[in-house]
Amino acid sequence: MTRLTPIRLLMVEDSEDDALLMTELLAAAGLVVEPARVDNAADLEAAMRVDGWDAVICDHNLPALDALSALAIVRRHDGELPFIIVSGGISDQQAVAAMHAGAADFVHKDNYTRLAPALERELRAARVRARDAAPLDDITGLPNRNALFEHLARLAASGRQSSPALFAIDLNRFRQINAGLGSLAGNAVLAAVAGRLRELAGAGGYAASLWADRFALVVENLSDQASATRMARAIQEKLAEPLRIGDQELFLGASIGICLDDVAGDSPEACLHRAELALNAAKMDGRNGIRHHHAGMARADQARLTLESALHRALREREFELYYQPQVDLADGRVTGAEALLRWRHPERGLVAPGEFIPALEETGLIVPVGAWALREACARVRAWRDAGHAGMRCAVNLSVIQFRQPDLVERVRAALAETGIPASALELEITENLAMHDEESTLRTLRELDRLGVGLAIDDFGTGYSSLAYLRRYPVDKLKIDRAFVDGIGASEDGAIARAVIAMARSLNLRVVAEGVETPLQAEFLRRHGCQEAQGFLYGRPLPAAELDALLAGAQARAATRSAYSAA
Ligand code: C2E
Ligand code: MG
Ligand code: MG
Repeated sequence: MTRLTPIRLLMVEDSEDDALLMTELLAAAGLVVEPARVDNAADLEAAMRVDGWDAVICDHNLPALDALSALAIVRRHDGELPFIIVSGGISDQQAVAAMHAGAADFVHKDNYTRLAPALERELRAARVRARDAAPLDDITGLPNRNALFEHLARLAASGRQSSPALFAIDLNRFRQINAGLGSLAGNAVLAAVAGRLRELAGAGGYAASLWADRFALVVENLSDQASATRMARAIQEKLAEPLRIGDQELFLGASIGICLDDVAGDSPEACLHRAELALNAAKMDGRNGIRHHHAGMARADQARLTLESALHRALREREFELYYQPQVDLADGRVTGAEALLRWRHPERGLVAPGEFIPALEETGLIVPVGAWALREACARVRAWRDAGHAGMRCAVNLSVIQFRQPDLVERVRAALAETGIPASALELEITENLAMHDEESTLRTLRELDRLGVGLAIDDFGTGYSSLAYLRRYPVDKLKIDRAFVDGIGASEDGAIARAVIAMARSLNLRVVAEGVETPLQAEFLRRHGCQEAQGFLYGRPLPAAELDALLAGAQARAATRSAYSAA
């Protein structure tokens, strides 16, 4: 057990030597105690008037006091304080009577080794009791789930004709924020969200903290769907206001589930369950979803569980595949590499795109083995390309933040390179901006180790997260991938100003720039003219099965060979 503060232990004991011995035995077992000793009723009374004891250890046969009387004194002041009897001379009947009176345990003086585990167990139990009883969440200071239930029960009992709405709220991407910024910042985010919810709740409402990044809000007199939906939007707008954590500016999103039916009538647990079912459905809609509870949702929840078990099966049965989307050099149109994109070949549904299952892979942690597989598979593909004479081909592999946090990531990358015998420079890892923006030491360390291995590092979907280029300067990244959204903006009606600015900034930092989602020659020409070096998108090719990309590469190779044969002739 690790405790930061010593255990405040009150010993009811007449022998100073025994008290010392026990303290030493506990210390030897790793329990640091701050003991105080009393040996009569008056001193015990006085000691108990002071708060803050963690436990009492009591000898049985003191000249002036027996354990049962001592226990009665302790219980008058504190109904729960762990009370352990340590004695050589207590009869079985007396021990049983003491247990009935509320002693937690009895340790015989010939068997002192039991003391430390018994004390540890009781302290742990006391902590659990305290946590359950504390109506407030540690991090947010909001009432917890139990307190919410009591509030709902009070509403029901009040018999008022109010019709409250219950909102279950879950922050988007909180896991990534926590992983990217560290848990201290994560806690600060939660506390800030709590403050905003408390504000929204106002005088009549009630905000609670359910766990981690999940909250609840009770708002009275909101019985119709339309006004409840408006309230949910107001919650999202409030949470979306920029939030400063240290020198980061964050923009939070949230998914919200709403329960309107019988909130002040049915059991509080059932109501919250309904709101959370609606929340799960809202989360499946993607970010910033809002859903009202309806009867079909229990089935949708079942669907999520089915998805999760299907993903376990998919991993076992090798139903995952990698598709490869070509990346071209904008100067000459040559294919210089490909991005590996995960697909799931579902036995009934056919090919499933990653948007549908990557969130579930991340939530279940399955992304770690699946990602490790994808890494090896992509390296093996590079090997095959090289063997077929495409010496310069690179492959880009996406890494989720969760994979990035695995302590053995660098080792895995090294092993994948070694097993396939490809040069590190032929592998590029795509990480998201949210991870890269953060200067937590471990992020930097991992990135530097990867850089030292010689693999390329690219920032994916640049411009969509909450990072600034200033952060990127500190990272050993080689490339920025401009998000599709900004490439979309290059067209007849828009001027592509953001894409242009990103290219200019990236080039000033000596980063290569790849544009994602290039669909038209006009976009390609615009990007090339403004200094973007590479592009990827439907204009050049959709993500393809390995064999089809191989055919495409072979075709290009043949054409190049013909060209050089002509020019030689
Ligand atoms: P991403 O890494 O940004 O990948 C690019 C996505 O844009 C791909 O979607 C690709 O099919 C799509 N795309 C490419 N060109 C165009 C275009 O011209 N127009 C349009 N409209 N779309 C285009 P996809 O394959 O559905 O992948 C979605 C996301 O899933 C990826 O976004 C990536 O974040 C994630 N992902 C894919 N494979 C993996 C993987 O192995 N591991 C991890 N962690 N994430 C992956
Ligand atoms: Mg990518
Ligand atoms: Mg991308």
